[in-house]
Amino acid sequence: MSAILVVNSGSSSIKYQLIDAESEERLASGLVERIGEQVGRIEHHQGEERIELEVRVPDHTAAFAAVLDAFAQAGTAIAELEVAAVGHRVVQGGSEFVAPTLITDAVAERILALRELAPLHNPAHHQAIVAARAALPDVPHVAVFDTAFHQSMPPHAYTYAIDTQVAAQHGVRRYGFHGISHLVVSRRAAALLERPVSTLRQIVLHLGNGASACAIDGGRSIDTSMGLTPLEGLVMGTRSGDLDPGALLHLLRSGMDVDELDRLLNQRSGLLGLTGSNDFRDVRAAAASGDAAARLAIEVTVHAIRRYLGAYLVALGGADTIVFTAGVGENAADLRAAVCADLEWFGVRLDPARNEARIREARRISTDDSRVAVLVVPTDEEAEIARQTWELITA
Ligand code: ADP
Repeated sequence: MSAILVVNSGSSSIKYQLIDAESEERLASGLVERIGEQVGRIEHHQGEERIELEVRVPDHTAAFAAVLDAFAQAGTAIAELEVAAVGHRVVQGGSEFVAPTLITDAVAERILALRELAPLHNPAHHQAIVAARAALPDVPHVAVFDTAFHQSMPPHAYTYAIDTQVAAQHGVRRYGFHGISHLVVSRRAAALLERPVSTLRQIVLHLGNGASACAIDGGRSIDTSMGLTPLEGLVMGTRSGDLDPGALLHLLRSGMDVDELDRLLNQRSGLLGLTGSNDFRDVRAAAASGDAAARLAIEVTVHAIRRYLGAYLVALGGADTIVFTAGVGENAADLRAAVCADLEWFGVRLDPARNEARIREARRISTDDSRVAVLVVPTDEEAEIARQTWELITA
C-alpha cells in the first residue's frame, strides 16, 4: 500500500493525483475548478474512466467532497484504494519549514499564519488541508514546501540590503520558489548524466508560465531568481520579473494605488504586458510573422535568462550542466538555442538536431564534446511530492 494522494490547491482550484510512490504510476488524477463560484467543475481520470461534471463547490471542503465522490463514481472508492498518505503542496514555508513536515493542528496553523508572505496561496492551502484531513482522518497528511529546497542558500544570497530591523520585522528576505521542481529536475539530470548529484554544479532553468533560475551546487540550492515572492527574477507569462524598486515608488507617487500596482506586476506584465498574450506559442508565432513587439518580448525574455546564467556561472565557479524544464523550457527549441547562443567560449555547444528533436524524455541537447552538458528534463512536481511524502511516512 504505497498510494499517495497529492493535492495541489490554489485559491479557486484543487489539482490532485493519486500516485503509487514506489512505481511512480498514476492511478488517478483530476482537477476541481471555479471553487467559490455559482457553478464549479470537476474533471477526473481513473483507469479507463473519465468523468467531467458541473458541481456546486462553494468552498474547498465541498471541493474535496466532490473529489471523493468522483473516485466512488469512477468505480473504486478512495477507501478501497488504500491511500497511504496525502501530500500537500505548500508554496510558502517561510524560514521555519526546511523539510517535508507531518501536518498537525499546529503545523496547519503555521501554514495559515504564513499568509502574510503568500496571501494568494497559503490560505487556499490551509483550507484544502483542513478539508482533506477531515475527509481522510486516518492517514498521515504531509506538507511539502516549494521554499524548503532553497533554505540551503547562504545569507549573502538571501539577504536584501535594506535596514535589517525592517527586514526582520516583516520577514523580508529571499525565499525562492519552484523548489520541488528544481530538486526533482536536478536529481533526474544527475541520473541522466550518471553522476552523483553531490559532484555536480547545475543551473536549472524552470521556464513555464512562472519562471525561475536556480544555481545548485552538489545538490544544494545556493541561489535562485525568485525572492520574497514569486515576482522577482525572469520575465514570466504575466509577471514582470526584475524591476527597479524605484519604478514602483514612481508609479505609486504618480497616483496608482497598491492593488492596481499588484495587478500590473502580477497579472498584466511579462509576455502579456509586452505583447498582449502570456502564451509563448502565440508570442513566437507573432514574432515569426514580423511583429516587432513580440520580437522584443522574446529578446527581453532571453536577455533576462542569460543575465542569471552569467551570474550563476560565476557563483558556481563554472557549470557541469545547464538544464531546461517546464512548458517553455521543455518545448521551445528556438528559445533554448537563443539562451545558449555564442557561449562556446564557455564550453556550451548545442547540437541543433538534438535540440530540435521532439522527444518527451529527459535528454542531452549539447554535442558530445560540449564541456557543459545542456539537458532538457521534464519536471514532475507531483511525483516528487509523492516521493517526499512516502519517504517521511516510511522513515
Ligand atoms: P505553469 O507555470 O502554469 O505550470 P507550464 O510549465 O505548463 O506553466 O508552461 C506554460 C508555458 O509553456 C506557456 O507559455 C506555453 O506557451 C508554453 N508551451 C507549452 N507548449 C509549448 C510548445 N510546444 N512550444 C513553446 N511553448 C510551449
